[in-house]
Amino acid sequence: MTSTVVRGRVSESRPGTRSEMVAIVGGGASGALATRAVLSNTTWRTALVAPESRPGTGVAYGAAEPWHVLNSRAGAMSADPADPLHLVRWLRERGEPAEPTDFLPRARFGDYLADWFAEVTKNAGDRFRHHFATATAIRRLDGGYLVTDDTGCQVHADHVILAVGNPSARRPAAVSAEAARSVEYVADPWAFGALDAVPADLPVLLIGTGLTAVDVALTLTANGRTTAVEAISRRGLLPRAHPVLPPPATAFDLPIGAGLRPLMRRVREEIAAGADWVAVMDFVRTRADELWRSLDHTDQERFLRHCHRFWEVHRHRMAPPVAARIGDLIGSGTFRVRAGRLTSIVPHPDGGLTVTADGTAPRRYGAVVNCTGPGSLPDTASGLVADMLRDGLLRTGPHGLGVETGDDGRALPGLWVVGPLRKGGLWEATAVPEIRRQVERLTASLQML
Ligand SMILES: Cc1cc2nc3c(=O)[nH]c(=O)nc-3n(C[C@H](O)[C@H](O)[C@H](O)COP(=O)(O)OP(=O)(O)OC[C@H]3O[C@@H](n4cnc5c(N)ncnc54)[C@H](O)[C@@H]3O)c2cc1C
Repeated sequence: MTSTVVRGRVSESRPGTRSEMVAIVGGGASGALATRAVLSNTTWRTALVAPESRPGTGVAYGAAEPWHVLNSRAGAMSADPADPLHLVRWLRERGEPAEPTDFLPRARFGDYLADWFAEVTKNAGDRFRHHFATATAIRRLDGGYLVTDDTGCQVHADHVILAVGNPSARRPAAVSAEAARSVEYVADPWAFGALDAVPADLPVLLIGTGLTAVDVALTLTANGRTTAVEAISRRGLLPRAHPVLPPPATAFDLPIGAGLRPLMRRVREEIAAGADWVAVMDFVRTRADELWRSLDHTDQERFLRHCHRFWEVHRHRMAPPVAARIGDLIGSGTFRVRAGRLTSIVPHPDGGLTVTADGTAPRRYGAVVNCTGPGSLPDTASGLVADMLRDGLLRTGPHGLGVETGDDGRALPGLWVVGPLRKGGLWEATAVPEIRRQVERLTASLQML
């Protein structure tokens, strides 16, 4: 018999009416998409354990500023896999002109996800309940799992879907322990209010030059700041820009299973023969998981070491208005990007941090922001995931990029993973189209049990 314990009260499903209880941990886009898919089976009940008041929004879409724009077109971002124009229609129904090729503000996309989620769960009636809490422990029981949260509630579930997003960023080795403890070091730019205390009258250093650094540069310069924002990474590569309209799709043979070199050669040949590189990247993305899995461990490591950054800047592109604003900031000298290796970051006696890179003269910054993105497991796992790794419920996956699962996201019988934590087994695991696919695969397996 399945039982649900809420603040010490036990509610049990009655014999003969037993429906499977699925606990979903995490209320970002992955948790919301998983909740909807589970609820589409009317014999299942779900308990969402998530602190957010607006499930669906998560880190990316919850507290985005007006200048933060999706890096994918509206036509790719529908919450409903069977209805690609669902998002575009949602906007038009609210009197907002929208086209599938538009890049929407992230916060507006968050509104859409939250609205859609509220509708889905309202229709589910008492088959859905939301525990506004953070899960602190997941234990395996005979025939199920017990999810405990920080309010003391416990959910006894037949299945658990873990949708807790990315691991945290790793602290770069150059950042001293003392610097890391100072308010001038921002370890997580997405934390609430993280950039509020960054001074406007001293230069700021961003570690990393990817989309996170771009977003942070936009925020720091939104109010007319003229003091420099600098971004540094080993290669100093900024993301490329999306074209205003997508190029015609392309398709070509890929030497799947032949190893990394022939693969890279084939992609270069295609571009050298005149194919649009954006179309080439978009095509390769559709096969990325298959390609990644076809590489042996050594070739995967080689890809991570030599090609990963180039993949990132071509695959994760800036929306056109973002690219234009970044171009202006670079033109005016307010935003500077450079290649270099950090050697030390320590507190400056007059406040701020002293940064040394590549043997250049030490320089004082008002703040340093870590924009390096998710770190690798197990070192950067959240408390819950670290405990699950220690207890053997989860295992670190290939290259520490995520956790080990089957193709359908199953980590153990009854324990499932969805979202960025599946990276490593999959190559593309973080964006909405890929999360939608993960959820479809996961629920197909769940249905068959
Ligand atoms: C800044 C940014 C911009 C992005 N832009 C795009 C884009 O334009 N297009 C695109 O396709 N993708 C984009 N992405 C990728 C994005 O990761 C996915 O689209 C998606 O939002 C991931 O959702 P998620 O639910 O897996 O993770 P998250 O959004 O991180 O949500 C995970 C949630 O789990 C919760 N949680 C964590 N631990 C616990 C716990 N113990 N108990 C309960 N809850 C817990 C957290 O509070 C969090 O809200 C972006 C990502 C970021 C960070």
